[in-house]
Amino acid sequence: MRIILLGPPGAGKGTQAKSMSESLDIVHISSGDLLRDHQSRGTELGDTARSYMQQGLLVPDDLIIGMIEERIKLPDAQNGYVLDGFPRTVEQALALEKALEKQGETIDTVANISVSEEELILRLGGRWICRNCQRPYHEVNSAPRKHGKCDDCEGELYQREDDVSEAVSKRIKVFAEQTVPLIGYYSDKEILVQVDGEGSIEGVRKSLLNAVA
Ligand code: AMP
Repeated sequence: MRIILLGPPGAGKGTQAKSMSESLDIVHISSGDLLRDHQSRGTELGDTARSYMQQGLLVPDDLIIGMIEERIKLPDAQNGYVLDGFPRTVEQALALEKALEKQGETIDTVANISVSEEELILRLGGRWICRNCQRPYHEVNSAPRKHGKCDDCEGELYQREDDVSEAVSKRIKVFAEQTVPLIGYYSDKEILVQVDGEGSIEGVRKSLLNAVA
């Protein structure tokens, strides 16, 4: 099963993609996590991506497309995947479709998680992430049991550089301009489902699992 999660920054794509990948036994592929991994390893791609990411801008399509094409060819992706954060432009969607076509594959479902802008700003402002397992926390809505430590793996929690207010507003604007056209694109292909992302994490999880079943 191949699934795409669409939604603005802060919609809960990372949390939900992780949980869906466990329930459906398929891999979770996050373009943002792959880029942050490149940065921490100091690769050329990571260095090029850094300034775009810090400003809340999209990394150029050719760099992202190459990175994802390589990732979905790996053996662990052959059983399916949940794509989180990719595609983000129509050009990326077209490239993905072409790459899949070569292997006689298609995307099964695209789920668009919607959340109001006010809620996104609140969520991203208080977000902390585990450096080790990437589990997200929120200082008000879902605080860790021990301050600064992940409940699951005791990893150190940190705030993403692009969760500062200027970059957050920019990321929401970039989403509206460059990613929202994908909603129409996948709706025309009749593989789009809409999911309300403002309920509880568990409620949204159930809606997503129902939508892709
Ligand atoms: P995310 O972790 O999905 O919020 O992504 C963090 C940042 O990585 C984004 O603000 C972009 O700068 C970059 N990024 C992640 N995925 C993509 C993509 N598909 N296309 C372009 N840039 C991306």
